[in-house]
Amino acid sequence: QALLAVSIFSAFFVFASQARTLAKPRTILLALTVLLAGGAADLAAFNLDPLRQVSQFTQMGVVVFIILLLIEAGRSASAYTYMRATNDVLRKMARKDSLTGLHNRTAYEEAVQKLRQSGAVEQMALAVLDIDGLKAVNDGMGHQAGDRLISAGAGCINKTLGRAGIVYRIGGDEFVALFTGVPPERLKDLLQELEGAVQAFNESGALFVLSLSAGCAVGTGQEDYDALFRRADQAMYRQKEEKRRKTVRTARTGCAGDAGNAGDTGETKDFLPQAP
Ligand code: GH3
Ligand code: MG
Repeated sequence: QALLAVSIFSAFFVFASQARTLAKPRTILLALTVLLAGGAADLAAFNLDPLRQVSQFTQMGVVVFIILLLIEAGRSASAYTYMRATNDVLRKMARKDSLTGLHNRTAYEEAVQKLRQSGAVEQMALAVLDIDGLKAVNDGMGHQAGDRLISAGAGCINKTLGRAGIVYRIGGDEFVALFTGVPPERLKDLLQELEGAVQAFNESGALFVLSLSAGCAVGTGQEDYDALFRRADQAMYRQKEEKRRKTVRTARTGCAGDAGNAGDTGETKDFLPQAP
């Protein structure tokens, strides 16, 4: 019996010391200890009185063991759910641009990665957009005004192009909108709506003029994403150059206008997508 007492005590001591070092499986170790203690108590009772019912303490130990395991399972399940929810929030935050609330460059790279894997892109179109003259606003009115200009541009793009596609801010003042299964006519309408939104913003009494250059490309099914992007990007730069030339011409002829201000939003046709 002394030997039995010593072994029960040693087993309990081993479990207790493990429980101190391992925070997580503490409940499981406790459950095992209870189970072991029940068996040991029955063994001891049998030694004292061989005629009594032998499994009484073991049964109690099993019940407590199961209850403790259920508690631990519930706790683990809620911790797992919490971790999943936290990961989800962090994942979304990591892909969101904090200034504009749009999808950020990371989200864009992930989307492009998938498109690159699919080879030739069909049934898709994209628009590349860049704010005109942001540096002048930054230099003349401060970085905060520049940030507000970016937010205003993002807002106009998102409430128009964002209705049919996904809009990403991929750089300081550069945006990309990706469209899948949107017919070119609808795209034209959306770009005209964007132009309307920009005009409405400029007529709303803002301290700076918002102007966007945009280029579009519609997938032909014979080129990959990078080729499609290049086409849209080149179209955007062509439009920017065109605006610059017009602004310089206007300044030279002495008409109203400012060579440093590229905020010429009167060129409605410039927003139309280029033919693929
Ligand atoms: P362009 O008309 O040719 O587009 O010229 P731009 O003055 O708009 O300048 P560009 O597009 O070449 O470069 C964007 C500039 O915007 C560069 C940088 O100084 C500024 N910029 C980049 N990120 C931010 C930002 O988060 N906030 C502000 N306020 N400015 C930024
Ligand atoms: Mg710019």
